[in-house]
Amino acid sequence: MNLNWIASQQPAMENLLEQWVNINSFTGNLQGLSQMASALQAACEPLQAQMELVSLPDRAIVDQTGRLAAQPLGKALHLVKRPSASYRLFLGGHMDTVYPPDSLFQKAERKGSRLYGPGSADMKGGLVILLTLLQALEQSPLAKKIGWEVVINPDEEIGSVGSRSLLTQCAARNHLGLIFEPSFADGSIASSRKGSASFTIVVHGRAAHSGRDFASGRNAITALSRIILKAEMLTDLTRGTSVNVGIIQGGQAVNIIPDLATCRLNVRFVEDEALAIVQTQLQQIIREQEQEGLSFLLHEDSANPPKPFDEKQKALFQILKMCGEKLNQSIQWQPSGGACDGNNLQAHGLRTIDALGVIGGGLHTPDEYADLSSLSERAQLVALFIEQLVQAAAPGA
Ligand SMILES: [Zn+2]
Repeated sequence: MNLNWIASQQPAMENLLEQWVNINSFTGNLQGLSQMASALQAACEPLQAQMELVSLPDRAIVDQTGRLAAQPLGKALHLVKRPSASYRLFLGGHMDTVYPPDSLFQKAERKGSRLYGPGSADMKGGLVILLTLLQALEQSPLAKKIGWEVVINPDEEIGSVGSRSLLTQCAARNHLGLIFEPSFADGSIASSRKGSASFTIVVHGRAAHSGRDFASGRNAITALSRIILKAEMLTDLTRGTSVNVGIIQGGQAVNIIPDLATCRLNVRFVEDEALAIVQTQLQQIIREQEQEGLSFLLHEDSANPPKPFDEKQKALFQILKMCGEKLNQSIQWQPSGGACDGNNLQAHGLRTIDALGVIGGGLHTPDEYADLSSLSERAQLVALFIEQLVQAAAPGA
């Protein structure tokens, strides 16, 4: 692939990133996601691939009343080129961000060598790299030998609950997965990743006047509090398992015994079995609180398996490191506590490297930024990596 051509694209890559960052594509903002999908479609047009927007099933959530409800999701962008080629790559990314339209962090702002803005690193910068890489590939003779498939989903930040089956199908059809999530701020790439699962616990109690009728009330908040204290004790850092209660809601006034309390918690784990164990323990903790007038709901909002780092994975990283040396880029790797679509793809049999996006920092905060020079540098790195893999005829070996 023409690495000089990739370098020449640096100004265009910066401009495209700025445009995309200025589109609010929060996971729940369907209009913004649709606008982002259109912008991506326009940018992908020159690749002349089969392209479609795929509708995703609704997501089951616990709503404000503590009941299960359906929440619509944005559409995923799916591209396929030369599906019958003998070597097939999957390239993936997400178009959603964690910043709602009413957050104060909305616009792109250049400061020196960085672009600050929502999704600049996580992961619109990565989408710019993915696009430029495919353009370079399509211009090169190597293209004949490689088929590729792209999914850019709108729901990664909530665990890819709607796009999961689309991704699983891709895992079965391809030899190697490349995901363009940001690397660490020091440029290192995620090796192993923890699994991640989120749950909602709902307690329905019985409302009553706190003075006139105290005894007939059933306090949902105190019941939930007892559950939370026990859930917190399921953390076992020696095994890499943590339980974080991140959101709690309940109550209306101090003189009303509350009939509804909700909490949302996130579990991180290293071993596959750890999740099932925590889930069973949560059910047990909830059962212990059962009494007349109280009812409970435990809902799994999302679950991603862990992504271990094995010898085959290590061999691929060595090739990546070698490519980096040719480009004067030092490639290191380190474990990450964060999960991404690479976890799922690899659990479904597709070997995946998943932090090939920009170097950046401040993810999920109002200080999120991308190092602009890493746009073309990472595109060159992955271009060289793909060349090496195809020439070595070692499809994801
Ligand atoms: Zn991301």
